[in-house]
Amino acid sequence: MHSARRARLRYIAAFTSVLFLAPILNGQAIRLHVDLTDAPRNIYHAQMQIPAHSGEISLVFPKWIPGNHRPSGPIAGLTGIQMEATGHPLAWQRDPVEAYEFHVTVPPGVSTIDVSVDAITSQDSAGGGGPAGSANILDLNWNAVLLYPKGVRSDDVTFAPSITLPAGWKFGTALEVARITGDEVDFSPVSLTTLIDSPVIAGVHYRKIELTKPGEGPVHVMDLVADSESDLAMSPRDLAAYQKLVAETGALFGARHYRHYNFLLTLSGQVGRHGLEHHESNDSVSSERTLLDPTLRMLNAGLVPHEFAHSWNGKYRRPAGLATPNYQEPMIGDLLWVYEGLTDYLGNVLAERSGLLTDAQYREQLAETAAMLDHRAGRKWRSLEDTTRSVQMLRMLGPQWANWRRSLDYYPEGELIWLEVDSIIRQQTNGQRSLNDFCKRFHGGESGPSRVVPYTFDDIVHTLNETAPYDWAKLLHERVNATGVGAPLGGIAGSGWKLVYDDKPNLFRQALERLAKFADFSYSLGFSVQQDGRFVDVIVGSPAYQAGLGPGMRLVAVNGRKWSPEILHATVKAAQSSNQPIELLVENAQFFKTYSVDYQDGEKNPHLERVSDRPDLLADILKPLTP
Ligand SMILES: [Zn+2]
Repeated sequence: MHSARRARLRYIAAFTSVLFLAPILNGQAIRLHVDLTDAPRNIYHAQMQIPAHSGEISLVFPKWIPGNHRPSGPIAGLTGIQMEATGHPLAWQRDPVEAYEFHVTVPPGVSTIDVSVDAITSQDSAGGGGPAGSANILDLNWNAVLLYPKGVRSDDVTFAPSITLPAGWKFGTALEVARITGDEVDFSPVSLTTLIDSPVIAGVHYRKIELTKPGEGPVHVMDLVADSESDLAMSPRDLAAYQKLVAETGALFGARHYRHYNFLLTLSGQVGRHGLEHHESNDSVSSERTLLDPTLRMLNAGLVPHEFAHSWNGKYRRPAGLATPNYQEPMIGDLLWVYEGLTDYLGNVLAERSGLLTDAQYREQLAETAAMLDHRAGRKWRSLEDTTRSVQMLRMLGPQWANWRRSLDYYPEGELIWLEVDSIIRQQTNGQRSLNDFCKRFHGGESGPSRVVPYTFDDIVHTLNETAPYDWAKLLHERVNATGVGAPLGGIAGSGWKLVYDDKPNLFRQALERLAKFADFSYSLGFSVQQDGRFVDVIVGSPAYQAGLGPGMRLVAVNGRKWSPEILHATVKAAQSSNQPIELLVENAQFFKTYSVDYQDGEKNPHLERVSDRPDLLADILKPLTP
């Protein structure tokens, strides 16, 4: 047993002894009913019957939300709070320090209090941007609509949940249905842990797709809801890809840690974009027309494989600092480069192995990721580990100066680190072992119902050494803690490729530029710019930065002519055979100025190029594990 884990267990033991001082539930379930009929106007109405004893009690609203890794419980949306006992109102008070905590005095002779709350769901759906409901769709995350007694372990509290849906809407969830009466649904009682881990999606336009063959277990189902009926048309090719995704995860991990699995997939331009992982489901929102439009299909290909891979990497195996006993206990995100970084790597590899991405698309995406990270000026001062500790500050910020501040880089940089680990294992063992073997050892084991097996940095190193002996601790400490060096491109080199730049568009960047209506000159001039001329970000140290440009300024004209992406592209090309700087007329909040950008190196779009004298390990990595 490692020292960090021992300290953690001591801590949990201390925590457990505190909660035995205040056992207010006596093993009884909290009844929770959520009226979702107002979902189209983004307000949910919840009622709870909470077993209680007389005297002062404290109820809490979930604060630290699993998968968000930060105190993102939507407390600002919690409204209409009313408490009663035997029909008489009870006065409650919010804690003066902890806004997520409420105190109430229960009168003598009372064994249950009634608590009603509303959740305004116009923002922060499942920790993502945007609303949880629309005219046709809703997403219920139970943490937004409930209170529970302070100090208990979420495993030890039972909820008996039920919902009322808008008339005629159909739903999907991993929860077990006890009874359906019209638009009322009663679910079987579950622990608070399982409840918060089991969101419900519902909609007017709904389709259920079986991904497992009849009689095969565990059952995998895709529950789709969309803005319109036509968005639900899944092609036979996509159906085959998602079926293959299920098979590929079985072959990769060698065990499944759930009784059944629901892919809850919302296709919408109206509700907030997010992907949130759970043990027995994932709650993912992708653009409407994702199943119909090849560009959207490519851009969103990694989403569902990523969230599905989390069932093993993140939910079953979880960093000890993120395996907290309830939702008020702060999380420690130091190992998010494993939790999210390895999942990013596996998600994209699984997307390719399943046929959701082609080899060429996979490589273009990897090239773009590597180029973006290689231009992160902020790695001069901020280590990757510091991005994991800063998740609550970095998560919802805009793109201005993101290259200097850095962002949630443990996702994409984790992908590069785990590619490097995979290529080293393959080199060290002459192709006999790979990261697939690590995953089987680390995430496999016995199949069965969901549970959490926490791990530390040392556990990762230990299993890597079992897979292939190497100085993993040194390599990973360097990758996670170092500052002032370029992006870790060793995995690209080690797998027989190199990152190059030329004037051919990168598939992924080109698709994103068209979709999000911006033009990207990040790796040439040093900025990306919106269609209205607004600079999104300016890379510190780039020619544009040296000239004095910054994000938020607005580009008006290029060499004396009104700006457009086409004109700027043509100017960059022409500048290669000119010794004159590029003159950019820029508006900075009502004031105009011309900036001279000294740049003659042409367009720079990232791609991967084969290194012919090295074996193509990337091709081996991308080979499906199933026929
Ligand atoms: Zn994730």
